[in-house]
Amino acid sequence: MAVVSIVSAEMRRDPLENALRAPIVAALLAAVLAQAPISAAPLPSHAGGAFTVVALGVRGGIQDGNLSSYLIRPQGDDRYVACDAGTLVNGLNAADRKGAFADVHPPAASLEGRVGYILTDKVKGYLISHAHLDHIAGLLLASPEDSAKPIYVLPSVHERIARSYFNGEAWANFADTGTEPRLGKYHFEDLQPGRAVPIADTAMTVTAFPLAHGHVESTAFLIETGPDGARDALLCFGDTGSDRIEHATRLHEVWAAVAPRVREHRLKAIIIEVSFPNAQPDNQLFGHMTPVQLLEELHDLAAHAGGKDALRGLPVVIGHIKYTLKSGPLPQAQIRRELDAGNDLGVRFIIPEQGDRRAF
Ligand SMILES: [Zn+2]
Ligand SMILES: [Zn+2]
Repeated sequence: MAVVSIVSAEMRRDPLENALRAPIVAALLAAVLAQAPISAAPLPSHAGGAFTVVALGVRGGIQDGNLSSYLIRPQGDDRYVACDAGTLVNGLNAADRKGAFADVHPPAASLEGRVGYILTDKVKGYLISHAHLDHIAGLLLASPEDSAKPIYVLPSVHERIARSYFNGEAWANFADTGTEPRLGKYHFEDLQPGRAVPIADTAMTVTAFPLAHGHVESTAFLIETGPDGARDALLCFGDTGSDRIEHATRLHEVWAAVAPRVREHRLKAIIIEVSFPNAQPDNQLFGHMTPVQLLEELHDLAAHAGGKDALRGLPVVIGHIKYTLKSGPLPQAQIRRELDAGNDLGVRFIIPEQGDRRAF
């Protein structure tokens, strides 16, 4: 019940989003907002209306400044969690320039601009999928001006971040545990696989699922909001290989866990990686996926969720495409073509640009 009252209180403070919930207007506007980055032409809708997602970083390398990170909040509530933090301040600035935060107004007494205010006051915690730099560099670099907040991680990820970065050598220890001296700004919340916990000071919960990513354990985060019995969900993946290539069942286990939510139309979107086009050899995937491998996995989810039409219209946001310095066709254009060519499930693939804001 506490979660419900928090959402209601936030909605009262947010008359625009509140008004969007009026029945018919909401359906029409949600249809528009669900698809469109606010600066682009609207596309048709899936369901929409549960979450707002701002893409802070959408590539998997090799250029810094646009690496995996997504701000996620329930609609009608301005408190975000970041799913990965490869890029933070660059992404906040890019999103601000695109108008993604036009409705955020720092208090007059605030010493910070809007981007600083969002970082310190509106980003309430981090979900870090694994310790690779392209998923945590933005957090490390922003840490001197960040506010105290939790970092939600699987224990193996906690251990690697503490050992590799918060060690007084690669970076100062901004956590409240581990190597001395400790600056105490961040508190690690260790997650048990499959067990939902509240994301502090938000109206969301998170459930972690371990993923196979080459030699590294990565994480999928199931983020949920809303009253018990009617919770909406969004699934945000860190890097992952496909089960077939990884000789694993980790994705199969995620699909089995979320299938009931797909059947109930409560899974609003999936954010997942496709790093390389189909031509990438299997032995050079390094724990990542191609379009054909993601489609195999989505077929597995559809099978769990009631068959081939179960995912029709489901937004699937594609991140972590490997930027390349080589000349030739853009990998994102090739990946888009390959995803569309194999899309017999009718899912709605979205390849976002940095700073885009969407409602799901
Ligand atoms: Zn990785
Ligand atoms: Zn990565």
